[in-house]
Amino acid sequence: MTSITGKVPVRCPVCGAEHEASVVQSINAHTDPEVKARLLAGELNVLACHCGKRTPLAATIVFVDLARLFYCQVVPDASGVAKAIAAFRDSGTKGTQRIVRTQNELIEKIKILDANLEDWAIEMIKVGLDEPVVLFDRADEAELHFVIVDRIVRGLAVPRATYSELVGREPPSELVIDRTWALSELPN
Ligand SMILES: [Zn+2]
Repeated sequence: MTSITGKVPVRCPVCGAEHEASVVQSINAHTDPEVKARLLAGELNVLACHCGKRTPLAATIVFVDLARLFYCQVVPDASGVAKAIAAFRDSGTKGTQRIVRTQNELIEKIKILDANLEDWAIEMIKVGLDEPVVLFDRADEAELHFVIVDRIVRGLAVPRATYSELVGREPPSELVIDRTWALSELPN
C-alpha cells in the first residue's frame, strides 16, 4: 500500500458535524489496485456523515499508471493549474501527462486509459455528440459507450469507426484535454 493519505477538517453541510476526514492524495494503479477500485466506484474521498449525508471532498490527487506511462493530477483550484502544468513539464517525465479539475474527470480518464483509447480523440467525439455533459463509460468491440448526465442519466453509443478516423492524427502536446480543448481543435 503506497497511496498517500492526508487528514482534512470537514464540516457536514447538512447537520454541521465536524469531521477529520481521510483524503487519498496519491494512487499508484499497480500497488494500490484496491484504492483504484474504490476511486472508480465513486467511494474514494467521500465524507460519510452519521446523519446519512455523503459529501464529495475536493482533493489534489496524483494518479500514476507506470506500465502505461500515464500520470494524471486532480487540481481542484483553478489558480493551481498553471503551476501544476509547469511542474509536470519540468519533471521531464515521459508518457502521457494530464491535469483535470475534479475526481470525476480523473475517473473518466482512467476508464478511457483502461479501454486502450486516447482521451483527446474521445473529447473530440464528445463535442460532436452535442450534449452539455457527456462522460465516457466503456467500450466494446463495435461501439464506444457514453453516459449523458442530465436530470436522468442516459446512455449513448458511438461506432468504433468514428474513433478510428480521429485517432490517426498526431497526439496533442497539451496537458489539459477537455471540452474546451476539443472545441478549439474542431474546424468552425
Ligand atoms: Zn451530517
